[in-house]
Amino acid sequence: MPEKRDYYEVLGVDRNASEADLKKAYRKLAKQYHPDINPDNKEAEAKFKEISEAYAVLSDPQKRQQYDRFGHAGMNGAGFDFSGFGGFDFGFGDIFESFFGGSPFGRSSRQRSGPTRGADLRYAMEITFNEAAFGVSKEFRVNRMQSCHVCSGTGAKPGTSPQTCKHCNGTGQVRYAQATPFGQMVNMRACDVCQGQGTLIPHPCEECRGSGRVQKNVKLNIDIPAGIDDNQTISLRGEGEPGTKGGPSGDLYVTIRVKPHPIFSREGYNIICEVPITFTQAALGAELDIPTLEGTIKYSIPEGTQTGTVFRLRNKGIKHLRSNSKGDLYVKVNVEVPTKLSSKQKEILSQFAEVSGDDVFVQRKNFFEKVKNLFQ
Ligand SMILES: [Zn+2]
Ligand SMILES: [Zn+2]
Repeated sequence: MPEKRDYYEVLGVDRNASEADLKKAYRKLAKQYHPDINPDNKEAEAKFKEISEAYAVLSDPQKRQQYDRFGHAGMNGAGFDFSGFGGFDFGFGDIFESFFGGSPFGRSSRQRSGPTRGADLRYAMEITFNEAAFGVSKEFRVNRMQSCHVCSGTGAKPGTSPQTCKHCNGTGQVRYAQATPFGQMVNMRACDVCQGQGTLIPHPCEECRGSGRVQKNVKLNIDIPAGIDDNQTISLRGEGEPGTKGGPSGDLYVTIRVKPHPIFSREGYNIICEVPITFTQAALGAELDIPTLEGTIKYSIPEGTQTGTVFRLRNKGIKHLRSNSKGDLYVKVNVEVPTKLSSKQKEILSQFAEVSGDDVFVQRKNFFEKVKNLFQ
């Protein structure tokens, strides 16, 4: 066996290097010399083995201490066998795992990423009061990730293919030793080389830089049903981000915001509308023009209509979301008292008052009788 190089030298760090320095150096070198990136390159293979071994020892404080004191000799007979890529055999961990059936202290490692459902997306859409009442089809655009059209989502440059990561044998996980108050523990963590993916892409697709997905501004259609109300959400199944590794796509949630109407307000499926009338219309009765969603209709109010009276126009409201029945239109009349009267109008009203005496104002008379009773 050839003379072993100094572990610090192998990683290109000095003897006082922190754990973070070691990790950084290792990652950098591992990426450079990984056999998957250098297929059939014996030299890279040997180098990779060397850096992995150096890191396995130096990243473990206890072994590092031993190495610092005794050098390579201190490692011999300690039961380390670095044969094979990533085949670090920390005997202790095996024992621990067989006793406890997994990582101690529940330090669960990231599992190899299998099929994953795509993320859900959210979108807010503003529509008019009438669109909400009658339903509408809308076209809109969202930014979402799409499978890359150049590599068909593989992330590999056309003509090449992703390869199984040899560092973790495609599992996406590697073991690592960790010092704990209870001694050395061996845990699993996501593979540094493939970032837990289990595969490597030696020649990444140029369009998506190996991710297999690109952001696209896509055009979508939505059918908004009649009767939808402000803040209700429609879900478009499968229109979210695509899943990975054959996982299903997420959903797209479209929240509807209904713009306020200048004269109508809404309560459930009923519409409320306030209509001003003159005091003569109120007194004498009148045929009013009442606005509805389908246009203006005629409606007669009886004579002696009081201000604030609400008339109900059946089935002139909004169609129910899940049936064909409709709400009602409530018309509240507000009697307006004239403010700028001509002298002619004043004269007529004075005459009107004189002729009426107190008798026509039945409500007023009743009211004052109640007041009188209060003080008797
Ligand atoms: Zn691509
Ligand atoms: Zn890997």
